[in-house]
Amino acid sequence: MSGKTESVSRGRCLIGGRWVAPASGETLPVICPSDGRVFAEIASGGPADIDAAVAAARRAFEKGAWGRLPAFERGRLLMRLSAAILDHVEELAEIESRDTGKPLSQGRADIRACARYFEYYGGAADKLHGDTIPFLEGYTAASFWEPHGVTAHIIPWNYPAQIFGRSIGAALAAGNACVLKPAEDACLSLLRIAELMQEIGFPEGALNIVPGPGEEAGAALAAHPGIDFISFTGSPETGTAIQAAAARNHIGCTLELGGKSPQILFADADLEAALPVVVAAIVQNAGQTCSAGSRVLIEKTVYEEVTARLAARFRELVAGPHDRDLDLGPLISRRQMERVRGYLGEARERGIPVLAEGRLAADLPPGGYYVPPVLLGPVPASERLACEEVFGPVLACLPFADEAEALALANATPYGLVAGVWTADGSRQLRLAHGIRAGQVFVNGYGAGGGIELPFGGVGRSGHGREKGFAGLYEFVKLKTVVWNHG
Ligand code: ADP
Repeated sequence: MSGKTESVSRGRCLIGGRWVAPASGETLPVICPSDGRVFAEIASGGPADIDAAVAAARRAFEKGAWGRLPAFERGRLLMRLSAAILDHVEELAEIESRDTGKPLSQGRADIRACARYFEYYGGAADKLHGDTIPFLEGYTAASFWEPHGVTAHIIPWNYPAQIFGRSIGAALAAGNACVLKPAEDACLSLLRIAELMQEIGFPEGALNIVPGPGEEAGAALAAHPGIDFISFTGSPETGTAIQAAAARNHIGCTLELGGKSPQILFADADLEAALPVVVAAIVQNAGQTCSAGSRVLIEKTVYEEVTARLAARFRELVAGPHDRDLDLGPLISRRQMERVRGYLGEARERGIPVLAEGRLAADLPPGGYYVPPVLLGPVPASERLACEEVFGPVLACLPFADEAEALALANATPYGLVAGVWTADGSRQLRLAHGIRAGQVFVNGYGAGGGIELPFGGVGRSGHGREKGFAGLYEFVKLKTVVWNHG
């Protein structure tokens, strides 16, 4: 990312089309998780910057060029942004990979996905049709989709570019003006993408960005009386605070809060196809994925075989610095590394068997936040490791006797985001797809975070509302009904 740390967004907020220093004049250090060293800085924004950003978004929506732009022109801008992102894939992938620690090829995939979100929502911008409604004699009734106005977006560090694309792409396509508070731990890629937006000529104030601490900039944004809707992705604890803030202002919100997603392997499954997917779904992004497949439920008759084969694969996995592009990178921060190690220490104390561990690469930079992938099992269903989100490369194996027990285990956590069902029995596929409490169920497959077109979101502690696909677009509009009495 040579030179890009010197870019115009460095240490600045984007407010009303200009990159400006935060009111505090302060910055936050950006640490590379691969070596624990500071390599850049972002603005440390706070309530005053949020006030200015919300005001700029309001102006853009109500009086500015953005608010007057026809839907197809909004779509064109978003598609031009998609093309610009693809023109900068390598630069952006390097930024994303260094900032988050994820292997370079994962960074590349994330940037491509981000471009795809802008393409998808760009194409959808002029396709939000309303309806006409049969009503009383002498009346005509119709409903129109209208943007909320100013939308607030608070996003995490695990997939900065992707989550930026799905949230901002949908909100802008629908015609809102946005204020974004990205995560302190990683947001350089989206700041660079916002620079590209400026170059392309997005009208001022359409997107405003205030980086800064969650408790200051984030809390100020969530509580701001000038916003009309909140889109949040992050932890359940912060999600509770966001929903409380939304309630006080009587506005809506979507919450995407994580999961403890199961993959269910029946004895009749095609193990050759299933096992690499099961491993990838927990190794991807070092397990720091809301939709990581962090539990594998295995039919007892094949439990020994499946765990032996998973263990063999786990022993081959290698964790190392992002730029060596290995199976997985470091965790995002010391705090996250300690959290995951805490869970592993607890597993040891509780006597949960370690079936296999991956390796750490040779000659690791000393300050990096590395945890090798770990396969545990059998994990009793009552253990924290069987029902809490670890957010690390830790896969819990749980045996089950029959379909009823598999379903009960799948639904035995407070979460409900994604599930994978692996079986050749078509009736069972349907029974489980209907019975599992989750926002997405994959049958003979799994897509941790994948599928721009596929509505995604949770139930219970995984949150509510949907992102991705057309459902994601509809979160950013509200319906207005108009009735004509023409006699
Ligand atoms: P994590 O613990 O994984 O960092 P968080 O939910 O704390 O997850 O963070 C997700 C996003 O929410 C980040 O952008 C963070 O800065 C922001 N955030 C954290 N605390 C608050 C808060 N009290 N109010 C609003 N946003 C917050």
